[in-house]
Amino acid sequence: YNEEEKSDDYLFKIVLIGDSAVGKSNLLARYARDEFYPNSKSTIGVEFQSQKMDIDGKEVKAQIWDTAGQERFRAVTSAYYRGAVGALLVYDISRRQTFDSIHRWLNELHTHSDMNVVIILVGNKSDLKDVREVSIAEGKALAEEEGLFFMETSALDSSNVTAAFQTVVKEIYNILS
Ligand code: GDP
Ligand code: MG
Repeated sequence: YNEEEKSDDYLFKIVLIGDSAVGKSNLLARYARDEFYPNSKSTIGVEFQSQKMDIDGKEVKAQIWDTAGQERFRAVTSAYYRGAVGALLVYDISRRQTFDSIHRWLNELHTHSDMNVVIILVGNKSDLKDVREVSIAEGKALAEEEGLFFMETSALDSSNVTAAFQTVVKEIYNILS
């Protein structure tokens, strides 16, 4: 081990999944660095980003994994999911087809990771109200049906971004501690 690992009480792997261009990389950029890329390409994706949080006085480190755009080819590998204890399952509220893909992503997640993985369904781009194609009620209903947490977010205006990541990390912490 190194000193940095030694000082962490907990290290949780969390994966970002969902169709291409729903805003996964920008959610991570907003959360970890408070940055936003108006015209981002898949190249901005990092392998993972570590983020420290304080929960009940314990230092918790979330290792958040982002794809490098391979979801476009439905080629997210099992290595990406391996060891994940949390997931943000993201769709774009302005593109119905990304919401329709959620069941496929859930199946893939459950195939490759632990059954107890903590999942939050995230309807991103809540700032695009005028072109909304998926209602809040539909998002909530799907989350309830599947036993997931739910939140709408905007990486553009920052709303609920930190809350979405914290919800997952806190729940993992509650389960494991
Ligand atoms: P990824 O393929 O899921 O990683 O998606 P990206 O993070 O690369 O984002 C795809 C596009 O959507 C980019 O042009 C982003 O600027 C844009 N985008 C991401 N999040 C938001 C958001 O919350 N609101 C709006 N309006 N655009 C967003
Ligand atoms: Mg990306």
